[in-house]
Amino acid sequence: MDTPRGGSNHSDTPGSVRYVTFGCKANQYDTQVLREALGRRGLEETGPGADLVVVNTCTVTAEAGRKARQLIRRIGRETPAARVAVTGCLAESEPEILREIPNVEWVLGNGEAKRPVNFLRQIGQEVDPEELGIPAGITEFAGHRRAFLKIQDGCDKRCAFCIIPHVRGRSTSRPAEELASEVQRLVASGHVEIVLCGIHIGHWGLDIGSSFSALLRRLVQVEGVGPHGRPVEWRLRVSSIEATEVDDDMVALMADRPDRIAPHLHMPMQSGADPVLKAMNRWYTVAEYLQACHRIRARLDRPAFTADILVGFPGETDADFERTLATAEEAGFTKVHVFPFSARPGTPAAEMGSRVPPEVSRERRAALSEAASGWEEAFRRDLHGARDRIVLEGFVGLSGRYQRVSIDPELIEGVPPDAIDVVLEYAPEITSDGREVARLRGRPVQPERPAEVSL
Ligand code: SF4
Repeated sequence: MDTPRGGSNHSDTPGSVRYVTFGCKANQYDTQVLREALGRRGLEETGPGADLVVVNTCTVTAEAGRKARQLIRRIGRETPAARVAVTGCLAESEPEILREIPNVEWVLGNGEAKRPVNFLRQIGQEVDPEELGIPAGITEFAGHRRAFLKIQDGCDKRCAFCIIPHVRGRSTSRPAEELASEVQRLVASGHVEIVLCGIHIGHWGLDIGSSFSALLRRLVQVEGVGPHGRPVEWRLRVSSIEATEVDDDMVALMADRPDRIAPHLHMPMQSGADPVLKAMNRWYTVAEYLQACHRIRARLDRPAFTADILVGFPGETDADFERTLATAEEAGFTKVHVFPFSARPGTPAAEMGSRVPPEVSRERRAALSEAASGWEEAFRRDLHGARDRIVLEGFVGLSGRYQRVSIDPELIEGVPPDAIDVVLEYAPEITSDGREVARLRGRPVQPERPAEVSL
């Protein structure tokens, strides 16, 4: 869909642009694609006074849509001269509503219209795709050490609570070689962690006769050369993947290359009770999910498993929730993102009866979050003595196992490096109210010295 708002009589092409992004990593990547393309065409990125405001929206919950509409209206009130282009999932799900908001001049959904060439045409700039390097992706993620790389879009599943397949379509994979080149460019721009993202990344390759583990095998081979022309150590983070789609080949690769693939998997569980999983139209049982966790854990050194869990899904009983707590504990999650169910209009779940009262959902959310913070503390204690690599922002960084780790400045001479290999040390801290909080410190691994030879 690429519908300019009817009746607009603007003819000037904008000279400056501002970006506002809602939602997931895939959306942030999409914004960066536009940012680079528009930047190549000379649109200067500025603040609130920009001629053009691109609002890349999310529609995953009704609340996400409400927030985006509210912001777009505010832009209209506060900067009436700004012309607004709305892109992303909300632009796909409710274009008519958006088009009625003052200042909104373009509503560009997730299809062809959102491609930079078409986007530029919409705003009055005829371009040669060659000149923009389209569709080769991005070259940097300005202001970040870690860069997102979208490897596919869309999803072939139909979870009962999810609107995403309706607004992003079927799973479409980007070519492996294109992605390998993009990794190379991102590392050359100074990014030492590349986070693979998409909508359903475990389905990468299904539409082109390949598989996600084959893509991983290709990407780990990329020789990274940093901004100064010297080889650098860089790593991939798989980010979010369905547990049942982590195959043995992928686990073997992660076990062989802990330097290149962070030992962390975010595996959405959604529920730990079979009746709820079935009602959600998820395709696995609790036993299958747990089996995947045990299989992966058996091969890797203290991997971090994080997950999304939806509580208060229609029909979820107290017993189902208790089972979810027990399953999450057995899975060994180190962090859980808990979402109370909210009915997304347009999804089958929005039509379901047996609604769980909101206060019960809130209680379940609190109970699960509290349990999860205890699991994370225990995980940190267990990491004492483990090796890891920290991607640093100053003297604090993110470990491969997705933990914040601090480094004593005295242990690093001069400017902190981009990334450093460390041995993790458990460093308990007593808070002002007397609680012990588990923190982690990293002791840099000393380069090995050649053995002394005695004659
Ligand atoms: S797997 Fe389910 S929750 Fe995930 S994007 Fe697809 S339909 Fe939505």
